[in-house]
Amino acid sequence: MKRGKAIIKELLAALVVLTGLARATRAFLWRDRVAVLLYHDPDPATLDRHLTYLRKFCDLVPLTDVGAPGNGRARAAITLDDGHVGNAALLPIFIKHNVRPTIFLCSRIVGRPRSHWWLHPGSLRVGHERLKRMTNDERLAQLAANGYQQDGDYRPTGLSVEQMEAMRAHVDFQAHTRFHPILTRCSDSECATEIGESKHEIEALLSNPCEHFAYPNGNYGEREVDFVRAAGFKSARTCDIGWNDQHTDPYRLRTIIIDDAASTIRFASQLTGIPHFLRYLKEGGGWNGRFPQF
Ligand SMILES: [Zn+2]
Repeated sequence: MKRGKAIIKELLAALVVLTGLARATRAFLWRDRVAVLLYHDPDPATLDRHLTYLRKFCDLVPLTDVGAPGNGRARAAITLDDGHVGNAALLPIFIKHNVRPTIFLCSRIVGRPRSHWWLHPGSLRVGHERLKRMTNDERLAQLAANGYQQDGDYRPTGLSVEQMEAMRAHVDFQAHTRFHPILTRCSDSECATEIGESKHEIEALLSNPCEHFAYPNGNYGEREVDFVRAAGFKSARTCDIGWNDQHTDPYRLRTIIIDDAASTIRFASQLTGIPHFLRYLKEGGGWNGRFPQF
């Protein structure tokens, strides 16, 4: 069943590419705007293949270039969410392709023997999608009942301090809250603390300015935008599908989501934004590529 689904995905991706949709999207939507690609925990060989493909027609730029005027060529910024320990193995690939990615860290998970909550076995028993939709208090209570405290010590799933030190010359480390709650399910004070404190903690951890934010799971509304702006961040990346230019609201940067293990043909198809756009529509998102919020 799983294998059947994987084959269908490959065939649909081939269809998107072979019908010219990939080229049309590049010409009419991407143009010389910035695609902010979103990864989580890709393996080095896969990321190497993706970047090799991308560089044939696209300039790789840092996230801070999002608001810079275009130069006629497609541009892409690489972002990775959560600060997974596996990201450390990507350093040679970043250097090889001369790319400076942004890694959005959970400030109370990295640098400690802690697990991201969805990677702890206790969260699987409850179900990730169920947990995401609970109020933050309910989610934490359910996780605690299944053996996970967010400030407890477990098998580390985040980058260590030594790994971040080794990467910092080639990577921008920015903020993705402290513990990765779903912000729209938090109280006002939890939400403000998770956003504001993550900035201070990343700055203390790495002794450099932390100015960019990514909303966990793509959940945000007016309140979250206000808190991010008030905390002093200069931009925030959403999970809404699309490309960015000087006219994009910096607190609602759009993204192109890439599956960490995508084959090159699926990568080419995902660069069009179409697969996630259709998934969002099915799940109640908007025609403007807005992530289906809850
Ligand atoms: Zn995340």
